[in-house]
Amino acid sequence: PLIRAQNSPVDYTPDAEFYKVEAILRPWRVQQVSSALLQMGIRGVTVSDVRGFGAQGGSTERHGGSEFSEDKFVAKVKMEIVVSKDQVEFVIDKIIDEARTGEIGDGKIFLIPVADVIRVRTGERGEKAERMTGGRADMSATTLT
Ligand code: ATP
Ligand code: GLN
Repeated sequence: PLIRAQNSPVDYTPDAEFYKVEAILRPWRVQQVSSALLQMGIRGVTVSDVRGFGAQGGSTERHGGSEFSEDKFVAKVKMEIVVSKDQVEFVIDKIIDEARTGEIGDGKIFLIPVADVIRVRTGERGEKAERMTGGRADMSATTLT
């Protein structure tokens, strides 16, 4: 499925060309989220196993004991996705669609302005470095052709 470029109605502060969408999610939803992102052409994603404490930390875990570690911090996965500004709302909506259960502990999303992107292999910076071959920008370009 091809996704059209979307002009975000949101004025983020501080303003930047790129943003990092940082999502702390339930580990067992991460595969579903990353598959959906890949389907919309988002190919650059970093994930880390993390442990955290939020509202869920003090409440009963509803999805079995596996999310609880011994010290009461809850096992989560942090997904970090750097995208151009006009992709931010798409990525956020997609993460919510795929990660939400409606129960306490679904996670949180942070939006962080990114000053620049540098591709180590080529030294490219900015949009050239952020753009992924076969990524969403390419899919959109194909749609317009
Ligand atoms: P190259 O064409 O040289 O391979 P690339 O842009 O495809 O460059 P990689 O070198 O494959 O980048 O990326 C290395 C790692 O950087 C990835 O495994 C991923 O963890 C992370 N990464 C790359 N792009 C992004 C992005 N846009 N957002 C978050 N993480 C990213
Ligand atoms: N903005 C890039 C593109 O459309 C994708 C960025 C990413 O995959 N995180 O090609």
